[in-house]
Amino acid sequence: MRILLTNDDGIRAPGLKVLEKIARQFSDDIWICAPDEEQSGMGHALTLTRPVRLRKHGERRFSVTGTPTDAVTMGLRRVMDGTPDVILSGVNRGANLADDITYSGTVSAAIEGALAGVRSIALSQVYSKDGTADEAPFGPAIEWGARVLAPLLDTPLPKRTLVNVNFPPLRPSEIQGVRAVRQGFHDYSRGTVVEGRDPRGFKYYWFGLEAIEHTLDHGTDLEAIDEGYISVTPLQLDLTHHSSLGALADRYVD
Ligand code: MN
Repeated sequence: MRILLTNDDGIRAPGLKVLEKIARQFSDDIWICAPDEEQSGMGHALTLTRPVRLRKHGERRFSVTGTPTDAVTMGLRRVMDGTPDVILSGVNRGANLADDITYSGTVSAAIEGALAGVRSIALSQVYSKDGTADEAPFGPAIEWGARVLAPLLDTPLPKRTLVNVNFPPLRPSEIQGVRAVRQGFHDYSRGTVVEGRDPRGFKYYWFGLEAIEHTLDHGTDLEAIDEGYISVTPLQLDLTHHSSLGALADRYVD
């Protein structure tokens, strides 16, 4: 099995090393192509207005001066000889849950893989409640990664779909199990914009995500993580809201 790895936290991200450890439990045919620098929050951005550079860091190990989508594109079209069987994106430092994951570089890298017709899986480690942003403990991902991935690597998945996995912020022994769940809902109406002043006295703004409301609806990824489970959510690229389609079509009848 040929596996392409990427990580929106960059080629030097600890979560990429974790992912490599997990992937090597399935194959030695591992290729890495990740952004040169952290690209969290870049979503599905594709670099169009400037060139990207490809850097070789070792055997089958490359970085791209661009976005996570750029890294997957380069991995598929320039770095690898032949198409991978699987693309794994992560393990991200931080959660990628609910319906706002279009912000996510981690999930978007997997979306790019799905667009290319490759089985693609995004993996994220939710922060520990007593850890800091820079010390996301990857224990749950390390301990449970292969167990979660095994069924995802041999279950038939429809084309143009991907799978989003999140590990809860617990000790590995405290994890309750794995749940296949739908996306939850994040209420962004209370997201904060923090205003400050830089050392030269000019105002700056910084987006804060802490105030976002988590609605723990039954059967969602948010509920699973809250209850100590690993969440596994299949996603599709078709964002059409099918039940509105008829109502809108009726409005455009001649
Ligand atoms: Mn990230």
